[in-house]
Amino acid sequence: MKQSLFALLTLFCFAAGAWGETVRVRHDHDPWGKCEGELIIDQEGIEYRSAKKMDHNRKWIWQDIQSVDRKSPSRLSVLTYEDQKLRLGQDKVFDFELLSSHRTFSDQTLELISGKLKKPVTDRVTDPIDAEYQVPAKHKHTLGGCEGTLYFGPEYSVYDSEDASDSRKWKKDRDVANVWSSQRYELEIRTYEENRRNFDKMRVFRFQLKEPLNQAYYEKLRRGLP
Ligand SMILES: [Zn+2]
Ligand SMILES: [Zn+2]
Repeated sequence: MKQSLFALLTLFCFAAGAWGETVRVRHDHDPWGKCEGELIIDQEGIEYRSAKKMDHNRKWIWQDIQSVDRKSPSRLSVLTYEDQKLRLGQDKVFDFELLSSHRTFSDQTLELISGKLKKPVTDRVTDPIDAEYQVPAKHKHTLGGCEGTLYFGPEYSVYDSEDASDSRKWKKDRDVANVWSSQRYELEIRTYEENRRNFDKMRVFRFQLKEPLNQAYYEKLRRGLP
């Protein structure tokens, strides 16, 4: 009952154009330690209010956020433009874990965040999609790889991996630049995902396919992309 009331209220807020949610989170420090507080996501941006560590309080307006990464249903990572002096100016990431087991960072929240950011986001939560085509695959890493299945639907493409951190859900018109196959047992998905090692390069996912790629679907996929 409580949850459905919350869902209704959330819907009402979204419909009214004014949305916002406040959740209790743990801020995980890098490389160790943590603090707890509130995360507020609303029209203006994202704010973190720590209960004890005042120097960890932040308020980012949308343009001060580079990207957001939904690492799991309960984990959200915010990539900022803040320099880390001890790490040769690497941009600072804030990792937040939800404290309530009833709550998740929902698809709707992620969609609103990406709309406000006006940029792609990284989504590692791969709930089932309406797949028109699927193919088992190995994602190639610099050394070795991980195994899983690729699913393609009208709006989303998904790589569901045995390694949850390598799973991805891409919204085609937002996250995918193009796809390429040099031969029928290979497929590349070139994405706009933040590439922190080479920020000026696209993040390319290379897959070795365990079955031959369906030629007709591949052509449809290429035509369907911008
Ligand atoms: Zn903290
Ligand atoms: Zn992988």
